Amino acid sequence: MKKRAVALILICLLLAGCGETAPRANARTVFAMDTVMNLTVYGGNDTQLNAAEQELHRLDAALARGTEGSAVYALNRDGTAAGTELAYLVRSALAISEATDGAFDVTVAPVLELWGFGSGAGEHRVPTEAELAEALAHVGAARLHTDGDTDHVTLDLPAQIDLGGIAKGYAALCVKQKLEAAGATGAVLDLGGDVALLGTKPDGSNWRVAVKDPADGGAYLGVLATDGGRFVMTSGVYERYFEENGVRYHHIIDPRTGCPAESGIVSATVVCGDGIWADALATACCVVGADASLALRARLANETPFELILVTGDGRVLYTCDGFTPEAGNGYTYEKVS
Ligand code: ADP
Ligand code: MG
Repeated sequence: MKKRAVALILICLLLAGCGETAPRANARTVFAMDTVMNLTVYGGNDTQLNAAEQELHRLDAALARGTEGSAVYALNRDGTAAGTELAYLVRSALAISEATDGAFDVTVAPVLELWGFGSGAGEHRVPTEAELAEALAHVGAARLHTDGDTDHVTLDLPAQIDLGGIAKGYAALCVKQKLEAAGATGAVLDLGGDVALLGTKPDGSNWRVAVKDPADGGAYLGVLATDGGRFVMTSGVYERYFEENGVRYHHIIDPRTGCPAESGIVSATVVCGDGIWADALATACCVVGADASLALRARLANETPFELILVTGDGRVLYTCDGFTPEAGNGYTYEKVS
């Protein structure tokens, strides 16, 4: 949380330098989805920010699988549920699962639970092999179904789903839509380091987003200049973890093994025009590693184009985007790749 707060301040500082003639930015800090979020609307008003804040609180409740009465809760309990939003999210999750060969898989929930990264305040611990095998027996996107174009979703119980890997991307998308509907023309939504950019900056220049250094919450890897309409989503194995017997176990699970991913990636930032895909792909890249992430980018180039900034455990930063300016002198080796 502390790291996120520092990253937030960094982003604010960068944005603050964006022009003296800019209309006044109206900002609000919201705590939702266990995250400090900062919404900045240029020339914005309280009505717009109220709508955005309300939407974040609504989604916080709606997407958490522990919320009784939510569609996700009903699906996990009954194996069947209806809801336009749930069906949309499940359809997206299934499409991303397919595109990533199962690296992103919302049915990984029972495994998350075992490691204590689940919905409840479960204790963090290393599960036994037998426990993992039992949980993995219920994991797989083939257990989750949508019914044509209807808003009906079914799940083969005891399989369970967890939307944590797309919640912030979807929230960013929804809040952006709310703000646009309320007349906002330029905004930065920072959902704890996951950033969405709306419209244009008052002075017409590119938005600038600081990409945080996974090893140091107070530093950043570089600055990304981008136009509006983009989502800049980061997943990192440093975000949530626990240590047992000197070994660090983090919250991004490789669905093939049921264990925290060991792909060599410590942080993956995805820049994409679709918030849900940006969020999920960042998680998937942490699972599959650098080479497979770059291959995935090439494979999806026409369907869902996206850019990558990957940090490896051995101190390399691989990036594909033209608008990224590396920070000098921080010990990383930067490599522009295509
Ligand atoms: P955050 O930005 O909230 O730290 P991420 O976007 O990095 O989260 O996504 C991690 C979350 O996604 C985990 O907390 C968990 O809920 C879920 N998750 C973990 N591994 C996977 C996976 N392989 N596929 C889908 N969801 C996952
Ligand atoms: Mg994410």
